Amino acid sequence: MTFTSVNPHDPADVLGEWQAAGPTEAAAAASRAATAAAGWREAPAAVRAKALSDAAAALEQRSAEITGLVVREVGKPLSEARGEVARGVAVLRYYAQAALLPDGETIPAAAADQLLMARHVPVGVAALITPWNFPVAIPLWKAAPSLAYGNATILKPASAAAATALALADILGAVLPPDVFQVVLGGAAAGTALIDHPDVAAVSFTGSSAVGRQISRRAAERGCRVQAEMGGQNPSVVLADADLDRAATAIAYAAMGFAGQKCTATSRVIVEDSIYPRFRDRLAAAVEALQVLDPADGKTLVGPVIDPGSRESALAAVASSGGRVLTGGTALDAPGYYLSPTLVELDQPAGPLATEEVFAPVAALIRAGTADEAIAIANAVRYGLVAAVFTSDLGGALRLTRNLEAGMIRVNAPTSGVDFQAPFGGSKESSYGPREQGLAARSFYTESRTVLIVP
Ligand code: NAD
Repeated sequence: MTFTSVNPHDPADVLGEWQAAGPTEAAAAASRAATAAAGWREAPAAVRAKALSDAAAALEQRSAEITGLVVREVGKPLSEARGEVARGVAVLRYYAQAALLPDGETIPAAAADQLLMARHVPVGVAALITPWNFPVAIPLWKAAPSLAYGNATILKPASAAAATALALADILGAVLPPDVFQVVLGGAAAGTALIDHPDVAAVSFTGSSAVGRQISRRAAERGCRVQAEMGGQNPSVVLADADLDRAATAIAYAAMGFAGQKCTATSRVIVEDSIYPRFRDRLAAAVEALQVLDPADGKTLVGPVIDPGSRESALAAVASSGGRVLTGGTALDAPGYYLSPTLVELDQPAGPLATEEVFAPVAALIRAGTADEAIAIANAVRYGLVAAVFTSDLGGALRLTRNLEAGMIRVNAPTSGVDFQAPFGGSKESSYGPREQGLAARSFYTESRTVLIVP
């Protein structure tokens, strides 16, 4: 079976047509990876570090080309695509250095002349199953630690990002021994075959909650380690003492930037009563000021959604929200899959815009009587990826960070935004398993081996 990847700004522009791997091809890739893993785990840390650092240099050298590919393949605005590729370079450099950090610890043994240590060793073969929305950063923030810590690695990217994944494979393939990094193209059948393969020791997934839960169950069933980073329904809370202009600018971008298609996008804006009318008007004006059309234009901040189905389901969620549309709410008359940035005022925190991930440039505005009520509303969803609070009272903010149910909390900063050197992940239904990124990534891609030496 073949599949294509299409430019969402200009659907007549097809990036390529590829053969989807079935269970046989995916299993063959896993077996090749198992053979390659035996050699890669023996490679000195300095060799692994050099490979990642060479990959960083190659990606940097090709950054204009790959930025253009990301803009064309997923409709990401140029400024963001540029930032994503630069982040990919930085992630490769970071894990090139992390490969050289201490790989364990010594522990006092029962006798003074004995040596007791716990070392981190590679797990073997890691399969990475990734979404289309960060086609460079997410594959690299999984592959770089996996490779740095000595694992053969297979990437199964989303079909809508196949061309970008192949460009990454080209870069990594040139600096690594054969089959240490492979790409398997295809959909659920290819992903499932990797999860089920006995040679795959770890599955790292990022994508929707529905698929993530399925994958986690399936991997756990055969005792395979698994981590899943999934959807969000992220709140931005604006308290009465916030700098309203700063908050409106940050939230408009966090909600609508890249057409709301970040797992960290703001979906609900919860505003304290006393400033509600003033803030609502400022936020609507900030949303209306965002340039929507043509991701290749450096001034564009929004861009199209990925496919027609995503636009239809977003418009349906707005129509059934029971709220008042303050701005937007319509498809744009353009060849691409455009939707005007949409802000909906809700009287009650209920309905699809207050509870589900819409993954489009759509946000709900909700009024709260007090700061504590705002936090209660923020927490009243099954997701818990990231939350933002806007306030000038940093003592109060510290208290709120203890009460907000989210894996990441940002004070006076947009929900969207990732620091690759810090642990990344959510709570509740947004996340399952150990954290990604930073030095936290090591616990997933290695296992601990306790060694006692008695002379
Ligand atoms: P998706 O869940 O549809 O697909 C993700 C990946 O899983 C793709 O590679 C897909 O081919 C594969 N897949 C689908 N069904 C499968 C199955 N049954 N078995 C094995 N593999 C399968 O997600 P998407 O539409 O590509 O991405 C958007 C979603 O990703 C949103 O929900 C967003 O919130 C989430 N996301 C989360 C994070 C995070 O870190 N929390 C980051 C980015 C995106």
